[in-house]
Amino acid sequence: MGASGGLPFRLMSTTKHFDEFLGSLAGVVGSRNLRYGEGIAEDYSHDEALGETWQMPLAVVFPETTEQVAAITALASSSGTPLVARGSGTGLSGGAVPTSTSVVVSFERMAEVLEVDTVNHVVVVQPGVTLAALDECLAEIGFVYPVFPGELGSTLGGNIATNAGGMRAVKYGVTRHQVLGLEFVLASGEVMRSGGKFVKSSSGYDLVQLITGSEGTLALVTEITLRIYPRPEFTTTLLVPFSNVAAVCSSVPEVLGSGALPLIMEYMDAAGLAAMGARVGLETGVPEAVQQLAKAYLFIILEDSKSERLEDEIELVSELLLQLGALDVYLLGDAAAAKLLEARESAFWVSKSLGANDIVDVVVPRGEIPLYLDKVARIASDSGSFISAAGHVGDGNVHFSVFQPDVIKRFEVIREMLNYGLALGGAISAEHGIGSEKREYLLELEDPQKLELMRRIKRAFDPAGILNPGKVF
Ligand SMILES: Cc1cc2nc3c(=O)[nH]c(=O)nc-3n(C[C@H](O)[C@H](O)[C@H](O)COP(=O)(O)OP(=O)(O)OC[C@H]3O[C@@H](n4cnc5c(N)ncnc54)[C@H](O)[C@@H]3O)c2cc1C
Repeated sequence: MGASGGLPFRLMSTTKHFDEFLGSLAGVVGSRNLRYGEGIAEDYSHDEALGETWQMPLAVVFPETTEQVAAITALASSSGTPLVARGSGTGLSGGAVPTSTSVVVSFERMAEVLEVDTVNHVVVVQPGVTLAALDECLAEIGFVYPVFPGELGSTLGGNIATNAGGMRAVKYGVTRHQVLGLEFVLASGEVMRSGGKFVKSSSGYDLVQLITGSEGTLALVTEITLRIYPRPEFTTTLLVPFSNVAAVCSSVPEVLGSGALPLIMEYMDAAGLAAMGARVGLETGVPEAVQQLAKAYLFIILEDSKSERLEDEIELVSELLLQLGALDVYLLGDAAAAKLLEARESAFWVSKSLGANDIVDVVVPRGEIPLYLDKVARIASDSGSFISAAGHVGDGNVHFSVFQPDVIKRFEVIREMLNYGLALGGAISAEHGIGSEKREYLLELEDPQKLELMRRIKRAFDPAGILNPGKVF
């Protein structure tokens, strides 16, 4: 029988206990919102992390309401069944990859924009709303939710759980700077709310911030209140080639210290831009002779609600970059600008198609980036690995695609990269999260006392350890 075909169950490989558990789940969500056995699509066995082993779960459940999430969680808790929350599965750290004994809680049927409040400048959404759907809804009324990780198919629930960042963090910060309130379900099945449509609170520990970035290990998020902003009308895209990698990076703090506030400030090495550009048919208009000299590029987007102010900012930034050693500054037309953004957003897919074995999203203080890039180049050549860089240089967060097929060598290369990032005052993951992929590095390189405190927090939220086991720790 098609395993999703409804009750009663005829499972060959499960215990009576599990059959009963499935029956109870179906009682909560209805059999159309439950998949098990061969009825589970392969998609639910993985996310987009490059190095993770795919794993089918025991079942996938699709709740439609918070009450259903609470009932599922209470059932899981009483039977000791692990639950793995899932948004769109676009994560890059293995955070949504299930274990063979777990049930995936997919939020794709909790995908409504519940309220757009243009007086308080907030939006209230269910966790399964995708960034693309939210943007479409807000664009119609001249507003924007400004955190755009490169994958617009990702959900707000996934964004909260990974504290997603993306290209616009240089101006607007990351998800945790935009989330004002959450409704969430604890492992016990209790439903709680914290925060709300207000921008300030000094009222005890901040549970909203604790749950943001917790990768589904502390609670299941069922409703989210986020800041929104008037959508700026005018934007300009600059492409800025440099013949010297160190000069690109050292120009970043100078631009940010000039009073300009770019929406996007990205770094791309010349090889990376060529590969990404070729994928989308990008014509930059940069003359061949300049391209020959360019080792790396800055890609900057400036925006404003007033065109005169934008003109002033373009002049300020362009003059400064030329003084700082840029080969030239190119203002792209609308079509080329859209292609450049598309090219940059395709970075992950380009790396994947070229056979990258892992992505590292270490973050260091902005000023340390030249030193860090230099060190990574040395690690690459010493280990015989190929490592290309592109990323959110305005935030000190460069994404490295690591091409090293030997598993042991790769582990050592990445450990050295992360260790050096930590030594420079950085962190292991800027925005992708630890999940299961970066867990071994966190356990080895992070302060053990801090890890123990995190474990105690985890136990307070989830004493039986049923929420996303094996992730983070
Ligand atoms: C091409 C590409 C580009 C990307 N670019 C960026 C980028 O620039 N910046 C960036 O930050 N990320 C980026 N990502 C990574 C990814 O898009 C983000 O991590 C995103 O937040 C994941 O959202 P999701 O809905 O796909 O979550 P999933 O992958 O489904 O889940 C991610 C984590 O969230 C947990 N989770 C999901 N929903 C809930 C919930 N309701 N309650 C509790 N926990 C939950 C899961 O258990 C898991 O631990 C990129 C990914 C791709 C494929």
